[in-house]
Amino acid sequence: MGSMHTGLEDIPGGMERMARFYAERAKGQVGLIVSGGIAPSEEGNALPGGKAMNTKEEAEKHKIVTQAVHDEGGVICMQILHVGRYGYSPNNVSASDTKAPISPFPSKGLSAEGVERTINDYVEAAALAQYAGYDGVEIMGSEGYLINQFIVSKVNRRTDQWGGSYENRIKFPLEIIRRTRERVGKNFIIIYRLSMLDLVADGSTWEEVVHLAKEVEKAGATIINTGIGWHEARIPTIATMVPRGGFAWVTKRMMGEVNIPLVTTNRFNMPDVAEQALADGCSDMISMARPFLADENLVLKSIEGREDEINTCIGCNQACLDHTFNLKVCSCLVNPRACHETELNYDPTDRPKKIAVVGAGPAGLAASTVAAQRGHDVDLYEASSEIGGQFNMAKKIPGKEEFYETLRYFNKQIELTGVNLHLNMRVSADELASKGYDEVIICTGVTPRVPNINGIQHPKAVSYVDVLTEKIEIGGKVAVIGAGGIGFDVSEYLATEKGKSPTMNIPHFMNEWGVDMEHTHAGSLKAANPDPSPREIYLLKRSKGKHGKTLGKTTGWIHRSSLNMKKVKMIQDVVYDRIDDEGLHITVNGESQTLPVDHVVICAGQEPLRSLKAPLEEAGINVHLIGGALEAAELDAKRAIDQASRLAASL
Ligand code: FAD
Ligand code: NAP
Ligand code: SF4
Repeated sequence: MGSMHTGLEDIPGGMERMARFYAERAKGQVGLIVSGGIAPSEEGNALPGGKAMNTKEEAEKHKIVTQAVHDEGGVICMQILHVGRYGYSPNNVSASDTKAPISPFPSKGLSAEGVERTINDYVEAAALAQYAGYDGVEIMGSEGYLINQFIVSKVNRRTDQWGGSYENRIKFPLEIIRRTRERVGKNFIIIYRLSMLDLVADGSTWEEVVHLAKEVEKAGATIINTGIGWHEARIPTIATMVPRGGFAWVTKRMMGEVNIPLVTTNRFNMPDVAEQALADGCSDMISMARPFLADENLVLKSIEGREDEINTCIGCNQACLDHTFNLKVCSCLVNPRACHETELNYDPTDRPKKIAVVGAGPAGLAASTVAAQRGHDVDLYEASSEIGGQFNMAKKIPGKEEFYETLRYFNKQIELTGVNLHLNMRVSADELASKGYDEVIICTGVTPRVPNINGIQHPKAVSYVDVLTEKIEIGGKVAVIGAGGIGFDVSEYLATEKGKSPTMNIPHFMNEWGVDMEHTHAGSLKAANPDPSPREIYLLKRSKGKHGKTLGKTTGWIHRSSLNMKKVKMIQDVVYDRIDDEGLHITVNGESQTLPVDHVVICAGQEPLRSLKAPLEEAGINVHLIGGALEAAELDAKRAIDQASRLAASL
């Protein structure tokens, strides 16, 4: 289980919650857990005032975590992470005076004395981790953090023994490993996370990476883990559009160069993908991180041949990385219990009730299956012929195929928990009232908003629903009204040739985004070579400012880059004048213009569908409104599933 910052590290009661979080994963048979990154010193923290593993008192606090993992038979290493120039602090340090493109603060180059002190901080942090009961440490040497900053000449411009030649620049990590090994003895695990693909200009060459791996082994590491891409890299490395196991080829190339085990990583989310990578000789071990937020029992289910029960990580980042970068406790869109194990539990009920859930979108699916798992008698009514609600449209977006897995998971959960599913049944208030339910949960979702634009009834104006359900063949020129999540997704759908999803072919993905699979360039970057869009697309919004600002913090830039690569024209500050036979007439900056489009796709948000509520309340029934039916604005599946699970846990 790869390292993830959970946000529990820094909050009151966080260690107890962390202990429970990791213990559940250890119980679920994870082979080796690596904790979230812990700084070796205060200046190594991402935020000022964060905790560091630099005193015995701090180490004591971790004992509850290591003990809990060991009690479940698990093994846990602590990751030591010094962020260097990626810190959000005026006291950032790095190899030289520099500023990271993703930090507002400049960094000061460490003095020679500062380098010695920092190496010592790593060694002390490892020794304290050992005292705290960890089985080892992972030294974070990738993703553009401090060690990476020493290795790469574009950041390290030192002229002393720690800079200049490659040999000098890698001395920093090698001394950390060598002195750590000396300090902790031979039986303590030292994993080194090595940046095998920097994906930044002037990064390491492949020859340099191999040389470093050999030296890391000599210096005393037990295992080498793969790091892909600096945080400032402009190539998606873990988001959902990255093909599964998409970077295993990098580790494969390193196989045979060293004698210690190699771990491959990034976008492994199901056991068969991991098995295939091992069978193909890509690595000795596989690291998954987010998939263990989604399902603590992933390994156990795999061992027992219950893969179809796995709650699969869909790579959305919405509740994990987006939370971390917004300084919130991490969780998981498909599993709201993640990092909330001490307060959200689905214990069996001692007062079974008769419950109706109306609507089988994400909210209804989570509510019905959690309630049934707890022992309630649950009827789930769905108007259409399949479960999933809007996820049935989301799964059709190129790069979002993982949404199929969530539907597979819920289908299986319905079977396992005994939910009585009634498809093709648009249930009415009278029917519900006649059946004697103790509780009715309304999860009827939303209906697309129809904006008040002249000519909105013109045949050129179509809803995103008609597009994604393929009711209408969209022409070669198209305007999309509304640049929220759905406007972006629909643009991606229209800009992609059918059957050419980025997730389907690894070399194709690398070629489109400009990853040099031959490693002929330093940093392994080459010119991006995107497939041209089959359509001319305008993505429009009324508000001012950059497109995509409302999208996820860690994924918005990817959606924007992808549409930019496909030459989608993004226009802001638009007034919609009318739609007619000529196309869409708009005014921008006081100037009128006509977009001569074949279709205008409306993606202008949604309104809640909750007409069942009032009559049921009048009939004296306990009614709960959740998901889109409660509030359509800014609704996403994370909120829908979280609300539903919490409600069902409380009934
Ligand atoms: P819905 O999914 O709308 O489900 C409501 C269900 O109720 C429907 O199946 C409907 O048929 C049924 N129903 C309605 N009335 C009745 C009745 N009277 N009787 C029986 N059944 C009834 N969210 C994210 O978080 N991340 C994403 O990446 C993302 N991508 C998206 C991409 C697209 C293209 C779309 C369209 C949506 C996306 N969303 C995404 C939004 C997400 O799908 C919704 O927030 C979520 O589906 C809302 O869940 P819900 O259960 O409240 O409603
Ligand atoms: P949305 O995010 O609210 O965006 C709708 C857009 O339509 C707004 O940005 C608004 O932009 C525009 N709009 C609103 N009213 C309008 C009107 N009367 N006339 C013209 N334009 C109007 O909603 P959405 O795109 O439908 O997405 C629904 C939810 O699904 C979102 O909350 C989102 O979280 C979720 N979703 C998430 C993802 C993801 O990748 N995470 C993907 C898809 C959907 P202007 O006011 O600027 O014009
Ligand atoms: Fe995976 Fe999304 Fe859950 Fe993060 S929030 S673990 S990316 S499913």
